Amino acid sequence: MSCPLCSSLNENIIYQDNFLRVILVDDIPGYIRIITQKHIKEFSELSDEEAINLMLTVKKIEKVLIDELNPEKVNIASLGNMVPHLHIHIIPRFKNDPWWPGAVFCEKKRDFKYPAVNFEKLKQKIKEKLEK
Ligand SMILES: [Zn+2]
Repeated sequence: MSCPLCSSLNENIIYQDNFLRVILVDDIPGYIRIITQKHIKEFSELSDEEAINLMLTVKKIEKVLIDELNPEKVNIASLGNMVPHLHIHIIPRFKNDPWWPGAVFCEKKRDFKYPAVNFEKLKQKIKEKLEK
């Protein structure tokens, strides 16, 4: 079975190194996904060092999203039921966004006008934070 996350085709890559890559997902403004470069199914397959690296990356990205977008809440999720290659969703949530207060993987409840996002600035801020 070919895995769509084993290649980075058509991804909007913000940052990458040997261990992971960070992409901007188009579906929701500010939606970020972290994907391990190698095909790993479960979080527990990571070494301790890799696990710490991954969670620190999540923490740094969450901080940039809060600083830049001022969301009501940031959702962090690892599902992978459809694509069993370890990846983490980091999703800024706004009060009365289409799924609020449910998860964005649920059915939309309403339309919502998202605040304007300067994507180039957001990508630059995340890149700077991760390169530190
Ligand atoms: Zn894969």
